[in-house]
Amino acid sequence: MPNDKFKSLALLAIGGNSITKADQEGNIPQQFSNSRKTAQHILDMLAQGYNLVITHGNGPQIGNTLLRVELSSHSVYPLPLDTCVSDTQGGMGYMLQQVIGNTLREEGIKKIPLTIITQVLVDQNDPAFLNPTKPIGPFYSQTKAQDLIRENGWKIIEDSGRGYRRVVPSPRPLEIIEAEAIKALIRNGFLVIAAGGGGIPVVKDNNNLRGIEAVIDKDLASSLLASQIQAELLLISTDVEQVAIFYNTPKEIKLSNITLKEAEKYLNDGHFPAGSMGPKILASIAFLKGGGKTVIITNPQNIGNALAGKTGTKITLN
Ligand code: ADP
Ligand code: MG
Repeated sequence: MPNDKFKSLALLAIGGNSITKADQEGNIPQQFSNSRKTAQHILDMLAQGYNLVITHGNGPQIGNTLLRVELSSHSVYPLPLDTCVSDTQGGMGYMLQQVIGNTLREEGIKKIPLTIITQVLVDQNDPAFLNPTKPIGPFYSQTKAQDLIRENGWKIIEDSGRGYRRVVPSPRPLEIIEAEAIKALIRNGFLVIAAGGGGIPVVKDNNNLRGIEAVIDKDLASSLLASQIQAELLLISTDVEQVAIFYNTPKEIKLSNITLKEAEKYLNDGHFPAGSMGPKILASIAFLKGGGKTVIITNPQNIGNALAGKTGTKITLN
């Protein structure tokens, strides 16, 4: 194997669906079992000679953390959102470290996975703080929603006919605070797991960092981390094999190879919705503009095929 210093670096962003399946309760044994399968697909990337950094979503996990906080509010202190994110980074990092470590050992690959609790700088004047948009946590009835708005000052919206849900600010990530430490670990051969759940949102007061009530989009944070560590490939693993235009309509066209310009055009034409594919395309555009070479979007089981150019959606500068 070549020295890790000279291998090309890839960032793999794992979508929530790789860890929690829609038809499952999503309990801990199920999360471990799903993560074990994902770990197998990670081998496909190592087999291609990439050095890897892994990021992951935390939607269902932080939803459950918030539900626990709410149900236990009469007997135990509450947790602010930044602490909820850090808790999921720890718990999910532990799980990924263990299952990826086991998989690597079984394959005889001498690489140690290691989780970095990651803070991500945001601007306290980001317009997102005045206009919270990111749905988070459990669904409520209308009456319960009204109580929570009154008691907690939350903003709550009606979420696509499924019930009422709290929305929180989702500010733009500006800087991965631990990027230098992550780079040093990569140089030393560790497989780093970082920026879980989009990272812990922090702001700067003079020279001090302070957590803030928000959540950061994991695709945007992954793209920023990929740029900061000078990765050449950003692989976004999600629930679809390929990105499409006219998605879910009779006119649907799956995209195999597109340029940065085409990605921007399709985004402006409204093919990629804000809560799902939109952030992935925005993340891809930012990564390519920030010096990245290639973005691939596909599902976990097709990571190997997509790297071999057989499927997936590849986005390049031109
Ligand atoms: P993740 O947990 O990986 O971030 P999301 O649910 O946020 O996953 O986003 C991926 C989803 O985006 C896909 O499962 C698909 O249903 C949806 N989607 C929306 N628009 C498109 C599109 N144009 N092409 C492909 N998938 C799309
Ligand atoms: Mg998502």
